[in-house]
Amino acid sequence: MGRKRKRSLETLAAQAGVGADRAFGSVSVPIYTTAIYRYEEFGRHRGFDYSRSENPTRQAAEQAIADLEGGTRAVAFSSGMAAISAVMTLFRSGDHILCSDDLYGGTYRLFEQILKHYGLRFDYADMGNPGQIRKRIGRKTRAVFIETPTNPLMKIADIRGVVRVARERGVLSIVDNTFMSPLLQRPLALGADAVVHSATKFLGGHNDLIGGAVVTVDPDLGEKMHFAQKAAGAVLSPFDSWLLLRGIKTLAVRMDRAQRSAEVLAGFLGAHPFVRKVFYPGLPGHHRRDLHFSQSDGPGAIISFELGRASAVPSFLNALGTVLLAESLGGVESLITHPATMTHADIPLAEQAAVGLTPRLVRLSVGMENPDDLVADIAQALRKAGRFR
Ligand code: PLP
Repeated sequence: MGRKRKRSLETLAAQAGVGADRAFGSVSVPIYTTAIYRYEEFGRHRGFDYSRSENPTRQAAEQAIADLEGGTRAVAFSSGMAAISAVMTLFRSGDHILCSDDLYGGTYRLFEQILKHYGLRFDYADMGNPGQIRKRIGRKTRAVFIETPTNPLMKIADIRGVVRVARERGVLSIVDNTFMSPLLQRPLALGADAVVHSATKFLGGHNDLIGGAVVTVDPDLGEKMHFAQKAAGAVLSPFDSWLLLRGIKTLAVRMDRAQRSAEVLAGFLGAHPFVRKVFYPGLPGHHRRDLHFSQSDGPGAIISFELGRASAVPSFLNALGTVLLAESLGGVESLITHPATMTHADIPLAEQAAVGLTPRLVRLSVGMENPDDLVADIAQALRKAGRFR
């Protein structure tokens, strides 16, 4: 069935999993709820022996993610944190990893409260400045770990520049691409060695699964990730793999819709008297807007903003009706969170303050609702919060 030209990301997403069912040509990939597979004879099976190692539904989801990110292999995990943990199995006691200086709180917690005890050393730096990064890469540095835009301050890393420096110094570059999704940013094409995802977010897109993935180009690195998946065992279940595939099919339209609404909301927030500051790479005032657009196809659908007063945050959040107060992002429902006390609560307050994460900050994930409804909801909540003393 001729594939004359390279297919676009929209087409790849819409047809995620098509062709994976070799038994009956089923367009929707079946959910193979099996732990085991019968051997054809002693020493011979059909590529599947035990679902921790391989499962056809998970394989189809992995292939879809690899295709979208432009990798040769994706390995799917039971959460984004499991995916990041698997990447960290590449390192040994004494190794140093240089990370973005504003990271998802759970990633910071994994690094600082678990992996540190195994002798890994983590440092944090502004990944927008490759010259500084070059100076921070030492003899023991084995990897740079980048989030861009960062969660929650929407800081922008210079993917090309940092990857180039990492290459020169012989260290791996790993990019958490959760906020952008492969529809808007493809770090492997910019030279990164590995991409990690919380598939819970835009890839899944419906706030109904927890999942993660690591995507690689180098076959040896891909094999190591598959080994980590099988050996440590944090695999994505067949049902969640199917939900993920189903979510991926609409990724392009969801991303497009959410981003257009986010642009409307960012404009509204930027002009509101009770909003102190808006962090969104789509706004002209964003300090690294040009850098972001040099490596991405759009500003995305996450907006962080600061209210006029931290004391008004609870009344603002409690006054929202359409926008849900909840911890995630990237799904059909618009969600809002208070990073300082929710998603990033495990980062010590002094370190939150050092990177500019204040108790005034809220993070909004724009969903599929009518943008007028979202603006109206946020406007009335800001009105109430503005009156609160
Ligand atoms: N990376 C980023 C940027 C995230 O925002 C999150 C979760 O919020 C994760 C990783 C962790 O993913 P999960 O919650 O699927 O374990």
